[in-house]
Amino acid sequence: MSKAAPADVVPSCCREGQALHEVRCKRCNRLLFKGSVISVEVKCPKCRSVQYFDYSINAADSK
Ligand SMILES: [Zn+2]
Repeated sequence: MSKAAPADVVPSCCREGQALHEVRCKRCNRLLFKGSVISVEVKCPKCRSVQYFDYSINAADSK
């Protein structure tokens, strides 16, 4: 009759009320870091490609 509590499937990162971005390499998909970033340039230690991530566009658009 009753369904399972949805909280059981929520990742631990979301329970703390702070969603962390998982930033992965676009080339080899290696997890570069987790965190809250606006814009960052990072060099992948695996495939050594320099990648630029910019989330400021989305942040400015949302109220
Ligand atoms: Zn890579």
